[in-house]
Amino acid sequence: MNNFSLTQVDSISVAVDKATEDTIGNRYIAGGTNLIDLMKYRVENPGHLLDINALGLSEIETLPDAGLRLGATATNADTAYNEEVEKKYPLLQKAILSGASTQLRNMATDGGNLLQRTRCYYFYDTATPCNKREPGSGCSAIGGFNRIHAILGTSDSCIATHPSDMCVALAALDATVQVTGDQGSRSIPILEFHRLPGDKPEKDTNLQPGELITSIDLPEKGFSQHFEYLKVRDRRSYAFALVSVAAAIEMDGEHIKDLRVALGGVAHKPWRLAELEKDYVGKTPNRKHFEEFAEKLISGAKGFGDNDFKIDLAKKSIVRALLTALESKK
Ligand SMILES: Cc1cc2nc3c(=O)[nH]c(=O)nc-3n(C[C@H](O)[C@H](O)[C@H](O)COP(=O)(O)OP(=O)(O)OC[C@H]3O[C@@H](n4cnc5c(N)ncnc54)[C@H](O)[C@@H]3O)c2cc1C
Ligand code: SF4
Repeated sequence: MNNFSLTQVDSISVAVDKATEDTIGNRYIAGGTNLIDLMKYRVENPGHLLDINALGLSEIETLPDAGLRLGATATNADTAYNEEVEKKYPLLQKAILSGASTQLRNMATDGGNLLQRTRCYYFYDTATPCNKREPGSGCSAIGGFNRIHAILGTSDSCIATHPSDMCVALAALDATVQVTGDQGSRSIPILEFHRLPGDKPEKDTNLQPGELITSIDLPEKGFSQHFEYLKVRDRRSYAFALVSVAAAIEMDGEHIKDLRVALGGVAHKPWRLAELEKDYVGKTPNRKHFEEFAEKLISGAKGFGDNDFKIDLAKKSIVRALLTALESKK
């Protein structure tokens, strides 16, 4: 690990100023469960860490429009066991609790979860080429061992996946990320927060240099009646998703009133096609429609050899998650 210094910042403007004035050497740190690992591997080498835990961003509070605000430094554990989250957003609770371990969730923050980096093995191995770690060096996963890699939205530069479970649920719930930078504050819809790799895989998100996540806001609708988070992985716990599905259905009598499906483990960002979902409003929820939906949601999927199995796995997982969501009425 390289030498670094650390300051605990106590004002958002000071934090943003310091992060913006030197974005290579100055980095925010929250729970440290990803950044410190990356520093130990020498994948990331910040000279100075700005501890943001004293900024007063750890509250979880109801918004005037009856949505919920998750402070950026609220821990994953406090979020999952928050009374409002349990009651109104059980999909989010289930996704968070399917991730990592109790100890990690006690440290990991909601803002940090959004910005955790890919688990591509080559990204962590500084002896191998990786365009995300070192732009222009090549991609070892294309033509290498790529069992855990993406099947959708890939590019010739990178086939990494985004590893978060929480973000998949946030994508289905239409969350908004609130950020503050040197140009002021702005709201970023979760589906526009992460990027596909294109020819700039080193950029995971559309955040500007120095921008600080202050909260993640949930709209009022939480789909607490019909939901499922299905995580398919190599081990029952303490493993990242090979494929995950956040499924949410709102019913109007016998028909679908609203449908949301977001996928994890298949792309560089949570994968959701909101336009496709609209075609199913008014339809009867049944296996036939869900199978048709699954085919369309992952149409264009492409495997890279070791991960070809994910195409069929994703289709089956989508159907299973939707059928479970349909039956999950509280
Ligand atoms: C063994 C292990 C298993 C895991 N398993 C899973 C799993 O199954 N599912 C899953 O979803 N996750 C899993 N995780 C990942 C874990 O959830 C993340 O490491 C954690 O959420 C990151 O949060 P943090 O607060 O520790 O972030 P940090 O490590 O502190 O920061 C991560 C990044 O975010 C930046 N950052 C942090 N907060 C902010 C902010 N407010 N504004 C701007 N930038 C910020 C930091 O600069 C850094 O770049 C696992 C982690 C480990 C170590
Ligand atoms: S898939 Fe992306 S992260 Fe993995 S080696 Fe290739 S460029 Fe690096």
